[in-house]
Amino acid sequence: MPAPAVPTRLRAHRWAWWLLAGLVLGLLLSMAWGARSVYQQREQRYHHQIEGGLRAISLLQVRNVADWRRQHIADAAALTDDGLFAQAAARWHAAPSEALQEPLRERLRSFVEHGGYSAAFWVDARGALRLGPQGALQGTLAPPEQQALRQALAQAEPVAVELHRDAAFAFAIFGVLAPVFDGDTPLGAVWLVSDARTQLFPQVETWPSASRSAESLLVQRDGDGLVYVSPLRHRSDAPLSLRQAIVPGRDVVVQAVAGARGVVYGSDYRGQEVLALVSAVPDSPWVLVSKLDVDEAFVEAQRGEWLALALLASLALLSGGCAAAAWQWRAWRRERGLKLALERNMRWLDSAQKAASAGYFAYDAEHQKFFMSSMAHAIFGLPPQEYMTLQQWMDMVHPEDRAHVLQVHADAIAARTPLGMQYRIVRASDSAQRWLQVWGEYGDGTDADPLRMTGTVQDITERKQAEQQLARYRDALEERVRLDPMTQVANRLALGEAMQREWEQARLRGMPLALLMIDVDYFKAYNDHYGHVAGDRCLQRVAHALAGAVQRAGEVAARYGGEEFAVLLPDSDELRAVAVAHRLREAVRELALEHQASPCGAQVTISVGVACVRPADSQPQEHAQTTLFQQADEALYRAKQAGRDRVALYGADVQAGPPPEAAQQG
Ligand code: GH3
Ligand code: MG
Ligand code: MG
Repeated sequence: MPAPAVPTRLRAHRWAWWLLAGLVLGLLLSMAWGARSVYQQREQRYHHQIEGGLRAISLLQVRNVADWRRQHIADAAALTDDGLFAQAAARWHAAPSEALQEPLRERLRSFVEHGGYSAAFWVDARGALRLGPQGALQGTLAPPEQQALRQALAQAEPVAVELHRDAAFAFAIFGVLAPVFDGDTPLGAVWLVSDARTQLFPQVETWPSASRSAESLLVQRDGDGLVYVSPLRHRSDAPLSLRQAIVPGRDVVVQAVAGARGVVYGSDYRGQEVLALVSAVPDSPWVLVSKLDVDEAFVEAQRGEWLALALLASLALLSGGCAAAAWQWRAWRRERGLKLALERNMRWLDSAQKAASAGYFAYDAEHQKFFMSSMAHAIFGLPPQEYMTLQQWMDMVHPEDRAHVLQVHADAIAARTPLGMQYRIVRASDSAQRWLQVWGEYGDGTDADPLRMTGTVQDITERKQAEQQLARYRDALEERVRLDPMTQVANRLALGEAMQREWEQARLRGMPLALLMIDVDYFKAYNDHYGHVAGDRCLQRVAHALAGAVQRAGEVAARYGGEEFAVLLPDSDELRAVAVAHRLREAVRELALEHQASPCGAQVTISVGVACVRPADSQPQEHAQTTLFQQADEALYRAKQAGRDRVALYGADVQAGPPPEAAQQG
């Protein structure tokens, strides 16, 4: 079978599906693109937000540190400019007594008690420690302070001593030397000492929000390397103890010391990825590096984003799943609907087939099995079972029909033509002979349509019987139409048909054809003498005798009308025809029917006129036949004329008496 063409409507549907799928894909892609750009925007905003926050904290801390330093210088400058303090110092220098010492000590004490300094000392211009808040002291300044003192006295203004460790103190100290002059004469200086641990480091250690990684570091260049000034949050090194070489790389502190400012990404002393904000502390060697782990800054911030995204994705998945489930549900319902409709149709088909006494079957050629409906099983007289085997079927086919049935099936398979045939079976259940009508169609034997025949089978026995009866009735009727009802021999219709038939045969084969016209002699007189009923009986016996005397195939004896008969003799020339005519005359004579009223003897006799012809193509058939009848009639007339009870051949002299020997044998 050729592949079925796809209907236009179905093709349009298919296109619509493709279009829809394309649209959905496009929508998904643009959604993904949109989500990506939204995500990127959000990420950028996060960066800005985080960097902004860090910047604010860093600036605040830088300002605090710078203010703290400035406060030291300012305090020192105020002391340098204090004339009264300079006079008191000058007086005490001139006469170092307990009484003159007191105002100086008082001033030094106020720095410690109210100024937030850890210590305050009076040193002379050579750098010797002379006085503390508690009284006189001995000792000299360490080199950094010595240098600062020289510078301060030379410049006549305070000089800071950067953060460093000193053996006299347990902590890192920051100091300022405030020079004091008597006029132009340098008297010495006040050394203000600050404890970085309590005064400076808290400025950078406080963080406005809770964070697990945030810290600010004060660092400064130290020769070829750098040194961490403030304590580290994630390491226990003491301030000023951790040093590091300046090797170009990603370390944010190295970048800071090398001059980077603002936002810097890189690693810190732990090797951790950090976001840092670098600011220089004004009027100092310090750089403040405020930093935060990238993990904490973004990943935690992004966790919410991811959660939202995951929520969205799961929502999308859920709705997709719902759509798929709805789709599946619809498909399932449609399939179920189709199944139900199919089952309903099968039931209808079943009952329709029952009503028509028909069953359906599918023949699997590969496994040689018939799968059949219950009605088909009943037709073959088999109990309802799964299938009928080929052998079972062949055994059931009537032996007389078997060869023909198998041939027709083989032809149908070979030609792939539908099969329709009637045959007999011997029913399995009761061995009754049944007629079946089978309609079947074979598949094309491909993979998609393996060689199998599907079709219907119908028990047509009753119909077949009725048909046969009808045929018999029709045959009988046909026969009767061609039979003379009274004499029971052929009538003129049958004679005419035989004449047509035999004429054609004779013409084809070039053989002669003879016609005998027969008339009962003095039959009017018979009727008159014996009565009409006896006349009928006489005619019946004559007809019977005539019919009995013609035996060859194709020879027909017919009642021509009244008491006249005609005999058609195929393959007969004049000689044989005359001989048969004599035989007929004899046959009637042998009946020995009494005819007292006949002038030619005491029994019934006949006269016979014989005519012969060789049908030829040249003659018009109808005319030639008419002529044959006329000639036979004329011969009969001449037999009558010659005295009756005799045979006359057309175109020959009429003879009387018994027939010649030869003719009698023909
Ligand atoms: P011929 O020898 O010249 O033939 O004399 P005939 O009396 O036979 O001649 P004709 O043809 O005049 O007479 C025929 C008669 O046959 C007339 C008719 O009454 C009779 N006849 C024709 N048909 C029937 C029939 O069916 N039954 C009977 N009983 N008589 C018939
Ligand atoms: Mg007559
Ligand atoms: Mg007659």
